[in-house]
Amino acid sequence: MKQLSLLVPAVLLASAGLSPQDPLARIDQEITRIQPRIVEIRHQLHQNPELSNREVKTAALIAEYLKGLGLEVQTGVAKTGVVALLKGGRPGPVVAVRADIDALPVTEQTNLPFASKVRATYLGQDVGVMHACGHDIHTAVQLGVASVLSAMKSELPGTVKFIFQPAEEGPPPGEEGGASLMVKEGVLNNPRPQAIFGLHAFAEMAVGDLGYSEGPALSAADTWEVKIVGRQAHGARPELSIDPIVAAAEFIQALQTIRSRTFSGHEPGVVTIGAIHGGQRHNIIPADVTIIGTIRTFRPEMSQLAEARLRAILKGVTEAAGATGEVVRYERGAPATINNVQLTRETVPALERVVGKSHVTRIPPAMGSEDFSFFANEVPGFYYRLGQVKPGTMSGDHHTPTFLADDSAIPVGIKAMSFILVDYLSRHKP
Ligand SMILES: [Zn+2]
Ligand SMILES: [Zn+2]
Repeated sequence: MKQLSLLVPAVLLASAGLSPQDPLARIDQEITRIQPRIVEIRHQLHQNPELSNREVKTAALIAEYLKGLGLEVQTGVAKTGVVALLKGGRPGPVVAVRADIDALPVTEQTNLPFASKVRATYLGQDVGVMHACGHDIHTAVQLGVASVLSAMKSELPGTVKFIFQPAEEGPPPGEEGGASLMVKEGVLNNPRPQAIFGLHAFAEMAVGDLGYSEGPALSAADTWEVKIVGRQAHGARPELSIDPIVAAAEFIQALQTIRSRTFSGHEPGVVTIGAIHGGQRHNIIPADVTIIGTIRTFRPEMSQLAEARLRAILKGVTEAAGATGEVVRYERGAPATINNVQLTRETVPALERVVGKSHVTRIPPAMGSEDFSFFANEVPGFYYRLGQVKPGTMSGDHHTPTFLADDSAIPVGIKAMSFILVDYLSRHKP
């Protein structure tokens, strides 16, 4: 009886719109209201994917939606990026949240009624374009979060900076773009957030599950290209040649010792050759061979060590063959994404409240790479995975034509991200 009578004022307050209601209930209420529109937007984005640094229509849609919410919107950031500020009605810190918005040169092969049929020119080739990494989900989720938090604006203790980032998959060769350009253009200043959050759809997790890593989450990605120049000859006269194919074979074999003999057994690393080009015919020893690959590490000193070993192996192998070896390029892409340990520990309980403890899994660091790291190297960052697979269905891997992220991941993403932002602001308010 006592409990019942205590309930009455709360109900009255709620109906007057004055209740300091559980933020999760508020978030749920808002999600119910906006979900149909947000799912529609996701379909629109999925059906009209745009390649990195070409996200023109995507950016326009985002900006229009955010303006409709009454946010301060800035466009043309790092070419096609959009940044918006939501100032809460109460004093508090600034926190940022980031969604990537670009698609990939992949031809979609799903049965989705809103599957992409878009084609574009990429590196001089006609290609299909697809949201094959779930960035359509990320964009839709973040627009949803902006809606939810706008509805809670008066109670919000602090400011949320919404970052919609282009070119996460990497700008076309010769162009700048993505998170590094956003940072360079000052996206983390005026106002500077004291933490940043990001999520990524995950093809290995069911809808309703969330995953995170504490500390190292995703590796750094270096790409390189090597050219071995020999001497061309008839295939029947190897004695007249300097065979770059045999030298390339030795180089490729020896390169694997970087991982197995140079790195400690405890040090994560991947050395992969992605392409090898040389020769035209069975009876011609070609003049040269080109090899391209990637090296993944978690610490800058390991990346430097790997590059030094690659150069030494190339020199040794080609000298022995009488050929010449040239490192045409060795480029460092995104650094490793390292989740701030304290921020991780204070955020995970909030994720557990959203989906239940048994649905939040700590996952080992992955050898994929993410340019979220450029933000997380500036301010403490936390990046987590959003399950995307509808039970009973399958998704192809990221970047493949059968990649399949289900709409039902959207409300989970909105709820998780909205709640951890509100939770962060509430815990860090003055
Ligand atoms: Zn991707
Ligand atoms: Zn991605």
